Amino acid sequence: MTQHSSTQGPSETPANNGTRAPRPIAVVGAGIVGASAALALKRAGFDVTLYSERTREELRDEVPATGTAILFGDSREHDARIEGDRYGADAAFATSAVTVNGGPTFDAPYDYEAQSVDVRLRADDRIALFLDEGGRFAHRRVDDAELDSIAGEHDVTLVATGKGGLAERFPVDSERSPYTEPQRYLLTVTVRTADGSDVRFPGRTENDRSALLSIDPEDGEVFVGPYLHKDAGPSWVLLGFARFGSETEKAYRGAHDAASALDIFRAQHHRLFPDVAPQIDALDVIDSDEHSWLKGAVTPTVRKPVARTDSGGLLVAIGDTAIAVDPIAGQGAQLGAIQVAALADALREETGEWDEELFTRLFDAHWEGHGKPSVEATSLFLGDPKYAEVVGSFFGRAAENPAAATALFDLLSVPGPVLGLRGEEDVDRFVRTFEERGATVSA
Ligand SMILES: Cc1cc2nc3c(=O)[nH]c(=O)nc-3n(C[C@H](O)[C@H](O)[C@H](O)COP(=O)(O)OP(=O)(O)OC[C@H]3O[C@@H](n4cnc5c(N)ncnc54)[C@H](O)[C@@H]3O)c2cc1C
Repeated sequence: MTQHSSTQGPSETPANNGTRAPRPIAVVGAGIVGASAALALKRAGFDVTLYSERTREELRDEVPATGTAILFGDSREHDARIEGDRYGADAAFATSAVTVNGGPTFDAPYDYEAQSVDVRLRADDRIALFLDEGGRFAHRRVDDAELDSIAGEHDVTLVATGKGGLAERFPVDSERSPYTEPQRYLLTVTVRTADGSDVRFPGRTENDRSALLSIDPEDGEVFVGPYLHKDAGPSWVLLGFARFGSETEKAYRGAHDAASALDIFRAQHHRLFPDVAPQIDALDVIDSDEHSWLKGAVTPTVRKPVARTDSGGLLVAIGDTAIAVDPIAGQGAQLGAIQVAALADALREETGEWDEELFTRLFDAHWEGHGKPSVEATSLFLGDPKYAEVVGSFFGRAAENPAAATALFDLLSVPGPVLGLRGEEDVDRFVRTFEERGATVSA
Protein backbone atom coordinates (compact mmCIF):
# COMPACT_ATOMS: atom_id res chain seq x y z
CA MET A 1 0.00 0.00 0.00
CA THR A 2 1.20 3.52 -0.70
CA GLN A 3 1.89 5.31 2.57
CA HIS A 4 0.72 8.86 3.23
CA SER A 5 1.24 11.37 5.98
CA SER A 6 -1.84 11.75 8.19
CA THR A 7 -1.28 15.49 8.80
CA GLN A 8 -2.25 18.14 6.28
CA GLY A 9 -0.53 21.44 5.44
CA PRO A 10 -2.14 24.47 3.78
CA SER A 11 -1.90 23.06 0.24
CA GLU A 12 -3.11 19.63 1.25
CA THR A 13 -6.48 18.24 0.20
CA PRO A 14 -8.22 14.93 0.81
CA ALA A 15 -7.38 14.07 -2.79
CA ASN A 16 -3.66 14.19 -2.03
CA ASN A 17 -3.75 13.56 1.71
CA GLY A 18 -0.64 15.59 2.38
CA THR A 19 1.44 14.37 -0.53
CA ARG A 20 2.08 16.45 -3.63
CA ALA A 21 0.62 13.79 -5.91
CA PRO A 22 -3.10 12.98 -5.98
CA ARG A 23 -3.95 9.75 -4.16
CA PRO A 24 -3.97 6.72 -6.48
CA ILE A 25 -7.19 4.74 -6.95
CA ALA A 26 -7.68 1.65 -9.13
CA VAL A 27 -11.04 0.72 -10.60
CA VAL A 28 -11.30 -2.82 -11.99
CA GLY A 29 -14.05 -3.41 -14.56
CA ALA A 30 -15.28 -0.86 -17.09
CA GLY A 31 -19.02 -1.51 -17.21
CA ILE A 32 -21.31 1.42 -16.42
CA VAL A 33 -20.40 1.40 -12.72
CA GLY A 34 -16.61 1.14 -13.18
CA ALA A 35 -16.65 3.79 -15.94
CA SER A 36 -18.79 6.10 -13.79
CA ALA A 37 -16.56 5.58 -10.73
CA ALA A 38 -13.40 6.26 -12.71
CA LEU A 39 -14.84 9.52 -14.08
CA ALA A 40 -16.31 10.70 -10.77
CA LEU A 41 -13.11 10.01 -8.82
CA LYS A 42 -10.91 11.62 -11.47
CA ARG A 43 -13.10 14.70 -11.21
CA ALA A 44 -12.81 14.54 -7.42
CA GLY A 45 -9.06 15.05 -7.86
CA PHE A 46 -7.68 11.50 -7.59
CA ASP A 47 -5.17 9.68 -9.78
CA VAL A 48 -7.36 6.98 -11.29
CA THR A 49 -6.52 3.93 -13.41
CA LEU A 50 -9.39 1.97 -14.92
CA TYR A 51 -8.59 -1.71 -15.61
CA SER A 52 -10.67 -3.52 -18.19
CA GLU A 53 -10.48 -7.02 -19.63
CA ARG A 54 -11.85 -5.55 -22.86
CA THR A 55 -10.74 -2.68 -25.07
CA ARG A 56 -13.07 0.29 -25.41
CA GLU A 57 -14.17 -0.93 -28.85
CA GLU A 58 -14.93 -4.40 -27.51
CA LEU A 59 -16.89 -2.98 -24.57
CA ARG A 60 -19.03 -0.91 -26.91
CA ASP A 61 -19.46 -3.19 -29.90
CA GLU A 62 -18.60 -6.78 -29.06
CA VAL A 63 -20.66 -7.56 -25.99
CA PRO A 64 -24.35 -7.32 -25.13
CA ALA A 65 -25.49 -4.62 -22.74
CA THR A 66 -25.37 -6.09 -19.20
CA GLY A 67 -28.97 -5.03 -18.76
CA THR A 68 -31.55 -2.46 -19.82
CA ALA A 69 -30.36 -0.13 -17.04
CA ILE A 70 -33.32 2.27 -17.09
CA LEU A 71 -32.91 5.12 -14.62
CA PHE A 72 -36.27 5.77 -13.00
CA GLY A 73 -36.58 9.29 -11.66
CA ASP A 74 -34.62 9.87 -8.49
CA SER A 75 -31.43 8.02 -9.50
CA ARG A 76 -31.07 10.40 -12.45
CA GLU A 77 -30.30 13.19 -10.01
CA HIS A 78 -27.55 11.11 -8.40
CA ASP A 79 -26.26 10.13 -11.82
CA ALA A 80 -26.16 13.77 -12.94
CA ARG A 81 -23.66 14.45 -10.14
CA ILE A 82 -21.30 12.10 -12.01
CA GLU A 83 -22.04 13.52 -15.48
CA GLY A 84 -24.89 15.64 -16.79
CA ASP A 85 -27.61 14.14 -18.97
CA ARG A 86 -26.70 14.01 -22.65
CA TYR A 87 -29.48 11.80 -24.04
CA GLY A 88 -32.61 13.85 -23.39
CA ALA A 89 -36.09 13.11 -24.61
CA ASP A 90 -35.18 10.37 -27.13
CA ALA A 91 -34.74 7.96 -24.27
CA ALA A 92 -37.44 9.25 -21.91
CA PHE A 93 -40.89 7.98 -21.03
CA ALA A 94 -43.26 8.64 -18.15
CA THR A 95 -46.04 6.09 -18.15
CA SER A 96 -46.66 2.35 -18.26
CA ALA A 97 -49.82 0.64 -19.45
CA VAL A 98 -50.34 -2.39 -17.26
CA THR A 99 -52.40 -5.51 -17.71
CA VAL A 100 -52.71 -8.43 -15.34
CA ASN A 101 -53.75 -11.82 -16.65
CA GLY A 102 -55.42 -10.30 -19.70
CA GLY A 103 -57.82 -8.60 -17.30
CA PRO A 104 -58.37 -4.92 -16.62
CA THR A 105 -55.80 -2.59 -18.08
CA PHE A 106 -54.68 0.57 -16.36
CA ASP A 107 -52.32 3.41 -17.11
CA ALA A 108 -49.68 4.20 -14.55
CA PRO A 109 -48.57 7.80 -14.99
CA TYR A 110 -45.18 8.20 -13.28
CA ASP A 111 -44.53 11.32 -11.27
CA TYR A 112 -41.01 11.38 -12.78
CA GLU A 113 -39.39 10.80 -16.17
CA ALA A 114 -37.61 7.48 -16.71
CA GLN A 115 -34.64 7.29 -19.06
CA SER A 116 -33.62 4.18 -20.96
CA VAL A 117 -30.20 4.41 -22.62
CA ASP A 118 -27.98 1.60 -23.95
CA VAL A 119 -25.57 1.03 -21.09
CA ARG A 120 -22.72 0.41 -23.55
CA LEU A 121 -23.21 3.93 -24.92
CA ARG A 122 -23.34 5.51 -21.47
CA ALA A 123 -20.23 3.66 -20.31
CA ASP A 124 -18.32 4.50 -23.47
CA ASP A 125 -19.23 8.20 -23.21
CA ARG A 126 -17.92 8.20 -19.63
CA ILE A 127 -14.70 6.41 -20.56
CA ALA A 128 -14.15 9.02 -23.30
CA LEU A 129 -14.54 11.86 -20.79
CA PHE A 130 -12.31 10.07 -18.27
CA LEU A 131 -9.53 9.74 -20.86
CA ASP A 132 -9.96 13.34 -22.08
CA GLU A 133 -9.60 14.51 -18.50
CA GLY A 134 -6.33 12.62 -17.96
CA GLY A 135 -7.45 9.22 -16.64
CA ARG A 136 -5.59 6.01 -17.54
CA PHE A 137 -7.24 2.96 -19.15
CA ALA A 138 -5.33 -0.32 -18.74
CA HIS A 139 -6.48 -3.14 -20.99
CA ARG A 140 -5.93 -6.40 -19.14
CA ARG A 141 -7.85 -9.15 -17.46
CA VAL A 142 -7.18 -8.85 -13.75
CA ASP A 143 -6.58 -12.19 -12.04
CA ASP A 144 -5.91 -12.78 -8.34
CA ALA A 145 -2.14 -12.22 -8.59
CA GLU A 146 -2.60 -9.07 -10.64
CA LEU A 147 -5.25 -7.82 -8.22
CA ASP A 148 -2.80 -8.22 -5.37
CA SER A 149 -0.19 -6.19 -7.21
CA ILE A 150 -2.69 -3.48 -8.31
CA ALA A 151 -4.03 -3.15 -4.77
CA GLY A 152 -0.47 -2.78 -3.51
CA GLU A 153 0.06 0.23 -5.75
CA HIS A 154 -3.20 2.05 -4.99
CA ASP A 155 -4.71 3.47 -1.83
CA VAL A 156 -7.94 1.64 -2.64
CA THR A 157 -9.00 -0.73 -5.42
CA LEU A 158 -12.67 -0.56 -6.37
CA VAL A 159 -13.90 -3.82 -7.82
CA ALA A 160 -16.64 -3.26 -10.41
CA THR A 161 -16.44 -6.56 -12.27
CA GLY A 162 -20.16 -7.26 -12.15
CA LYS A 163 -21.83 -10.36 -10.77
CA GLY A 164 -19.13 -12.93 -11.57
CA GLY A 165 -15.35 -13.22 -11.52
CA LEU A 166 -13.69 -11.11 -8.87
CA ALA A 167 -16.99 -10.69 -7.01
CA GLU A 168 -16.12 -13.93 -5.25
CA ARG A 169 -13.35 -12.09 -3.41
CA PHE A 170 -16.17 -10.62 -1.29
CA PRO A 171 -18.06 -13.08 0.94
CA VAL A 172 -21.82 -13.30 0.44
CA ASP A 173 -23.77 -11.50 3.15
CA SER A 174 -26.50 -14.05 3.74
CA GLU A 175 -28.46 -11.80 6.10
CA ARG A 176 -28.80 -9.10 3.46
CA SER A 177 -29.16 -11.39 0.41
CA PRO A 178 -32.87 -11.83 -0.26
CA TYR A 179 -32.72 -15.17 -2.10
CA THR A 180 -30.23 -17.94 -2.77
CA GLU A 181 -31.61 -18.80 -6.22
CA PRO A 182 -32.63 -16.81 -9.31
CA GLN A 183 -36.32 -15.83 -9.23
CA ARG A 184 -36.93 -15.50 -12.99
CA TYR A 185 -35.39 -16.65 -16.26
CA LEU A 186 -34.72 -13.57 -18.42
CA LEU A 187 -34.78 -12.82 -22.11
CA THR A 188 -34.29 -9.41 -23.66
CA VAL A 189 -33.88 -8.02 -27.17
CA THR A 190 -33.63 -4.49 -28.52
CA VAL A 191 -35.73 -3.83 -31.60
CA ARG A 192 -36.70 -1.03 -33.94
CA THR A 193 -39.63 0.17 -35.96
CA ALA A 194 -39.25 0.40 -39.73
CA ASP A 195 -38.92 4.21 -39.64
CA GLY A 196 -37.62 4.79 -36.09
CA SER A 197 -40.98 6.13 -34.95
CA ASP A 198 -42.66 5.48 -31.62
CA VAL A 199 -44.87 2.46 -31.18
CA ARG A 200 -48.44 3.10 -30.10
CA PHE A 201 -50.52 0.42 -28.44
CA PRO A 202 -54.17 1.37 -29.09
CA GLY A 203 -55.32 -2.00 -27.76
CA ARG A 204 -53.87 -1.09 -24.39
CA THR A 205 -53.60 2.69 -23.95
CA GLU A 206 -54.38 6.01 -25.58
CA ASN A 207 -51.05 7.44 -24.44
CA ASP A 208 -48.68 8.28 -27.27
CA ARG A 209 -45.47 7.12 -25.68
CA SER A 210 -46.11 4.50 -23.08
CA ALA A 211 -44.17 1.51 -21.86
CA LEU A 212 -46.09 -1.73 -21.29
CA LEU A 213 -46.03 -4.07 -18.35
CA SER A 214 -47.89 -7.30 -19.04
CA ILE A 215 -48.29 -9.73 -16.19
CA ASP A 216 -49.39 -13.34 -16.21
CA PRO A 217 -49.32 -14.73 -12.66
CA GLU A 218 -48.40 -18.25 -13.87
CA ASP A 219 -46.00 -17.31 -16.62
CA GLY A 220 -44.20 -14.12 -15.61
CA GLU A 221 -43.93 -10.53 -16.78
CA VAL A 222 -42.99 -8.69 -19.97
CA PHE A 223 -41.84 -5.09 -20.13
CA VAL A 224 -41.81 -3.25 -23.46
CA GLY A 225 -40.44 0.26 -23.52
CA PRO A 226 -38.56 3.02 -25.32
CA TYR A 227 -34.76 2.64 -25.52
CA LEU A 228 -31.89 4.60 -27.00
CA HIS A 229 -29.68 2.08 -28.80
CA LYS A 230 -25.99 2.96 -29.23
CA ASP A 231 -26.13 2.70 -33.07
CA ALA A 232 -29.79 2.59 -34.08
CA GLY A 233 -30.85 5.53 -31.87
CA PRO A 234 -34.49 5.62 -30.71
CA SER A 235 -35.67 2.03 -30.52
CA TRP A 236 -37.56 -0.33 -28.18
CA VAL A 237 -36.61 -2.98 -25.70
CA LEU A 238 -38.50 -6.18 -24.95
CA LEU A 239 -37.65 -7.61 -21.55
CA GLY A 240 -39.22 -10.83 -20.32
CA PHE A 241 -39.18 -12.40 -16.85
CA ALA A 242 -40.29 -16.03 -17.01
CA ARG A 243 -41.31 -17.94 -13.92
CA PHE A 244 -39.35 -21.14 -13.53
CA GLY A 245 -41.26 -24.18 -14.77
CA SER A 246 -43.41 -22.11 -17.15
CA GLU A 247 -43.79 -22.69 -20.87
CA THR A 248 -42.22 -19.27 -21.37
CA GLU A 249 -39.07 -20.25 -19.48
CA LYS A 250 -38.64 -23.17 -21.89
CA ALA A 251 -39.14 -20.86 -24.85
CA TYR A 252 -36.72 -18.22 -23.52
CA ARG A 253 -34.01 -20.83 -23.01
CA GLY A 254 -34.26 -21.68 -26.71
CA ALA A 255 -33.32 -18.18 -27.91
CA HIS A 256 -30.05 -18.25 -29.86
CA ASP A 257 -29.90 -14.87 -31.57
CA ALA A 258 -31.81 -11.59 -31.78
CA ALA A 259 -34.25 -12.86 -34.43
CA SER A 260 -35.16 -15.97 -32.45
CA ALA A 261 -35.58 -13.86 -29.29
CA LEU A 262 -37.99 -11.54 -31.11
CA ASP A 263 -39.93 -14.52 -32.50
CA ILE A 264 -40.28 -15.90 -28.99
CA PHE A 265 -41.70 -12.58 -27.75
CA ARG A 266 -44.10 -12.45 -30.70
CA ALA A 267 -45.40 -15.92 -29.92
CA GLN A 268 -45.66 -15.10 -26.21
CA HIS A 269 -47.76 -12.00 -26.96
CA HIS A 270 -50.10 -13.90 -29.28
CA ARG A 271 -50.55 -16.54 -26.60
CA LEU A 272 -50.90 -14.33 -23.52
CA PHE A 273 -51.25 -10.66 -24.46
CA PRO A 274 -53.02 -10.55 -27.86
CA ASP A 275 -54.18 -6.93 -27.35
CA VAL A 276 -50.67 -5.71 -28.26
CA ALA A 277 -49.49 -8.62 -30.44
CA PRO A 278 -49.90 -6.71 -33.76
CA GLN A 279 -47.49 -4.01 -32.57
CA ILE A 280 -44.93 -6.58 -31.39
CA ASP A 281 -45.25 -8.36 -34.76
CA ALA A 282 -44.34 -5.11 -36.54
CA LEU A 283 -40.98 -4.69 -34.74
CA ASP A 284 -37.67 -5.66 -36.37
CA VAL A 285 -34.27 -6.68 -35.05
CA ILE A 286 -31.34 -4.26 -35.27
CA ASP A 287 -29.19 -5.82 -37.99
CA SER A 288 -26.07 -3.81 -37.15
CA ASP A 289 -25.88 -5.24 -33.61
CA GLU A 290 -25.64 -9.01 -33.28
CA HIS A 291 -25.32 -8.49 -29.50
CA SER A 292 -28.70 -6.80 -29.12
CA TRP A 293 -30.13 -9.68 -27.10
CA LEU A 294 -29.37 -11.50 -23.85
CA LYS A 295 -30.72 -14.45 -21.86
CA GLY A 296 -29.93 -15.85 -18.42
CA ALA A 297 -30.78 -15.47 -14.76
CA VAL A 298 -29.52 -13.38 -11.86
CA THR A 299 -28.95 -14.83 -8.40
CA PRO A 300 -29.81 -11.90 -6.14
CA THR A 301 -26.73 -11.49 -3.95
CA VAL A 302 -25.48 -8.91 -1.48
CA ARG A 303 -21.81 -9.18 -0.56
CA LYS A 304 -19.63 -7.88 2.25
CA PRO A 305 -18.32 -4.63 0.80
CA VAL A 306 -14.67 -4.78 1.83
CA ALA A 307 -11.95 -7.42 1.40
CA ARG A 308 -8.16 -7.65 1.48
CA THR A 309 -5.81 -9.25 -1.01
CA ASP A 310 -3.23 -11.78 0.24
CA SER A 311 -0.74 -8.95 0.76
CA GLY A 312 -3.28 -6.77 2.56
CA GLY A 313 -4.38 -4.50 -0.32
CA LEU A 314 -7.76 -2.83 0.26
CA LEU A 315 -10.59 -3.95 -2.06
CA VAL A 316 -14.03 -2.35 -2.12
CA ALA A 317 -17.00 -3.79 -4.06
CA ILE A 318 -19.22 -1.46 -6.11
CA GLY A 319 -22.13 -1.93 -8.50
CA ASP A 320 -23.35 -5.47 -9.22
CA THR A 321 -20.27 -6.81 -7.43
CA ALA A 322 -21.68 -5.41 -4.17
CA ILE A 323 -25.43 -5.77 -4.72
CA ALA A 324 -26.92 -7.86 -7.54
CA VAL A 325 -30.73 -7.75 -7.68
CA ASP A 326 -33.25 -9.41 -9.94
CA PRO A 327 -33.87 -6.85 -12.72
CA ILE A 328 -37.67 -6.91 -12.42
CA ALA A 329 -37.78 -3.59 -10.55
CA GLY A 330 -34.89 -2.04 -12.50
CA GLN A 331 -32.76 -1.27 -9.46
CA GLY A 332 -29.20 -2.49 -10.30
CA ALA A 333 -27.78 0.32 -12.43
CA GLN A 334 -29.67 2.86 -10.34
CA LEU A 335 -28.00 1.57 -7.18
CA GLY A 336 -24.62 1.68 -8.95
CA ALA A 337 -25.06 5.36 -9.87
CA ILE A 338 -26.18 6.26 -6.34
CA GLN A 339 -23.28 4.36 -4.76
CA VAL A 340 -20.67 5.94 -7.04
CA ALA A 341 -21.94 9.51 -6.62
CA ALA A 342 -21.91 9.14 -2.82
CA LEU A 343 -18.49 7.48 -2.78
CA ALA A 344 -16.89 10.24 -4.85
CA ASP A 345 -18.43 12.91 -2.59
CA ALA A 346 -17.29 11.10 0.55
CA LEU A 347 -13.71 10.53 -0.60
CA ARG A 348 -13.45 14.12 -1.81
CA GLU A 349 -14.23 15.28 1.73
CA GLU A 350 -12.60 12.49 3.73
CA THR A 351 -9.51 13.53 5.65
CA GLY A 352 -9.08 10.39 7.77
CA GLU A 353 -7.66 6.96 7.02
CA TRP A 354 -8.90 4.98 4.05
CA ASP A 355 -9.50 1.67 5.74
CA GLU A 356 -12.05 -1.10 6.20
CA GLU A 357 -13.89 0.91 8.80
CA LEU A 358 -14.44 3.87 6.45
CA PHE A 359 -15.58 1.81 3.46
CA THR A 360 -17.79 -0.43 5.59
CA ARG A 361 -19.42 2.66 7.09
CA LEU A 362 -19.99 4.16 3.64
CA PHE A 363 -21.49 0.92 2.35
CA ASP A 364 -23.71 0.51 5.41
CA ALA A 365 -25.11 4.00 4.78
CA HIS A 366 -25.69 3.07 1.11
CA TRP A 367 -27.34 -0.17 2.18
CA GLU A 368 -29.69 1.43 4.70
CA GLY A 369 -30.61 4.39 2.47
CA HIS A 370 -30.85 2.65 -0.89
CA GLY A 371 -29.73 -0.99 -1.06
CA LYS A 372 -32.21 -2.47 1.36
CA PRO A 373 -35.20 -0.51 -0.02
CA SER A 374 -34.23 -1.55 -3.57
CA VAL A 375 -33.96 -5.20 -2.57
CA GLU A 376 -37.37 -5.03 -0.86
CA ALA A 377 -39.04 -3.20 -3.78
CA THR A 378 -37.66 -5.93 -6.03
CA SER A 379 -39.26 -8.58 -3.80
CA LEU A 380 -42.57 -6.71 -4.04
CA PHE A 381 -42.44 -6.59 -7.86
CA LEU A 382 -41.46 -10.28 -7.90
CA GLY A 383 -44.71 -10.98 -6.06
CA ASP A 384 -42.88 -12.43 -3.07
CA PRO A 385 -45.42 -14.01 -0.68
CA LYS A 386 -44.48 -11.55 2.07
CA TYR A 387 -45.87 -8.76 -0.14
CA ALA A 388 -48.96 -10.68 -1.34
CA GLU A 389 -51.44 -8.43 0.50
CA VAL A 390 -49.56 -5.28 -0.54
CA VAL A 391 -49.43 -6.29 -4.20
CA GLY A 392 -53.10 -7.34 -4.21
CA SER A 393 -54.00 -4.05 -2.64
CA PHE A 394 -52.06 -1.93 -5.18
CA PHE A 395 -53.49 -3.80 -8.16
CA GLY A 396 -56.98 -3.86 -6.69
CA ARG A 397 -56.94 -0.07 -6.48
CA ALA A 398 -54.93 0.81 -9.58
CA ALA A 399 -57.62 0.05 -12.16
CA GLU A 400 -59.98 2.54 -10.47
CA ASN A 401 -57.56 5.00 -8.97
CA PRO A 402 -54.61 6.33 -10.99
CA ALA A 403 -52.95 7.62 -7.81
CA ALA A 404 -52.51 3.98 -6.72
CA ALA A 405 -50.78 3.16 -10.02
CA THR A 406 -48.56 6.24 -9.68
CA ALA A 407 -47.70 5.27 -6.11
CA LEU A 408 -46.78 1.72 -7.15
CA PHE A 409 -44.45 2.90 -9.91
CA ASP A 410 -42.96 5.54 -7.64
CA LEU A 411 -41.32 2.67 -5.77
CA LEU A 412 -39.07 2.14 -8.83
CA SER A 413 -37.75 5.67 -8.37
CA VAL A 414 -37.85 6.05 -4.58
CA PRO A 415 -38.14 2.55 -3.08
CA GLY A 416 -37.75 3.71 0.57
CA PRO A 417 -41.49 3.69 1.43
CA VAL A 418 -41.67 -0.03 0.67
CA LEU A 419 -40.13 -0.65 4.08
CA GLY A 420 -43.34 0.63 5.68
CA LEU A 421 -45.73 -1.38 3.47
CA ARG A 422 -46.92 -4.54 5.18
CA GLY A 423 -50.63 -4.62 4.48
CA GLU A 424 -53.71 -2.99 3.01
CA GLU A 425 -53.81 -0.09 5.48
CA ASP A 426 -50.20 0.89 4.72
CA VAL A 427 -50.96 0.90 0.99
CA ASP A 428 -54.03 2.99 1.65
CA ARG A 429 -52.00 5.57 3.55
CA PHE A 430 -49.23 5.59 0.92
CA VAL A 431 -51.68 6.01 -1.97
CA ARG A 432 -53.40 8.84 -0.13
CA THR A 433 -50.16 10.86 -0.18
CA PHE A 434 -50.27 10.65 -3.98
CA GLU A 435 -53.94 11.63 -4.08
CA GLU A 436 -53.07 14.64 -1.96
CA ARG A 437 -50.26 15.55 -4.34
CA GLY A 438 -52.94 15.61 -7.02
CA ALA A 439 -51.73 12.78 -9.21
CA THR A 440 -53.98 12.61 -12.24
CA VAL A 441 -54.39 10.18 -15.09
CA SER A 442 -52.52 11.31 -18.14
CA ALA A 443 -54.54 9.13 -20.49
C1 LIG B 1 -32.08 -8.03 -18.29
C2 LIG B 1 -31.63 -6.96 -17.35
C3 LIG B 1 -32.35 -5.75 -17.25
C4 LIG B 1 -31.95 -4.77 -16.35
N1 LIG B 1 -32.68 -3.61 -16.25
C5 LIG B 1 -32.29 -2.65 -15.38
C6 LIG B 1 -33.01 -1.42 -15.27
O1 LIG B 1 -34.01 -1.20 -15.97
N2 LIG B 1 -32.57 -0.47 -14.41
C7 LIG B 1 -31.46 -0.68 -13.64
O2 LIG B 1 -31.09 0.21 -12.86
N3 LIG B 1 -30.74 -1.84 -13.72
C8 LIG B 1 -31.12 -2.80 -14.57
N4 LIG B 1 -30.40 -3.95 -14.68
C9 LIG B 1 -29.15 -4.08 -13.90
C10 LIG B 1 -28.01 -3.30 -14.56
O3 LIG B 1 -27.93 -3.58 -15.92
C11 LIG B 1 -26.71 -3.66 -13.85
O4 LIG B 1 -26.89 -3.44 -12.47
C12 LIG B 1 -25.53 -2.83 -14.31
O5 LIG B 1 -25.43 -2.79 -15.71
C13 LIG B 1 -24.27 -3.42 -13.68
O6 LIG B 1 -23.14 -2.68 -14.06
P1 LIG B 1 -21.70 -3.05 -13.48
O7 LIG B 1 -20.77 -2.06 -14.08
O8 LIG B 1 -21.76 -3.20 -12.00
O9 LIG B 1 -21.36 -4.52 -14.01
P2 LIG B 1 -21.07 -5.04 -15.48
O10 LIG B 1 -21.86 -4.32 -16.49
O11 LIG B 1 -21.22 -6.53 -15.41
O12 LIG B 1 -19.55 -4.67 -15.75
C14 LIG B 1 -18.49 -5.43 -15.28
C15 LIG B 1 -17.29 -5.20 -16.18
O13 LIG B 1 -16.14 -5.80 -15.57
C16 LIG B 1 -15.40 -6.46 -16.55
N5 LIG B 1 -14.61 -7.49 -15.89
C17 LIG B 1 -15.08 -8.64 -15.32
N6 LIG B 1 -14.07 -9.34 -14.77
C18 LIG B 1 -12.94 -8.63 -15.00
C19 LIG B 1 -11.57 -8.85 -14.68
N7 LIG B 1 -11.19 -9.92 -14.01
N8 LIG B 1 -10.65 -7.92 -15.08
C20 LIG B 1 -11.04 -6.81 -15.75
N9 LIG B 1 -12.32 -6.55 -16.10
C21 LIG B 1 -13.26 -7.46 -15.71
C22 LIG B 1 -16.45 -7.01 -17.52
O14 LIG B 1 -15.90 -7.26 -18.79
C23 LIG B 1 -17.44 -5.84 -17.55
O15 LIG B 1 -17.09 -4.91 -18.55
C24 LIG B 1 -30.79 -4.97 -15.55
C25 LIG B 1 -30.07 -6.18 -15.65
C26 LIG B 1 -30.49 -7.15 -16.53
C27 LIG B 1 -29.71 -8.44 -16.61
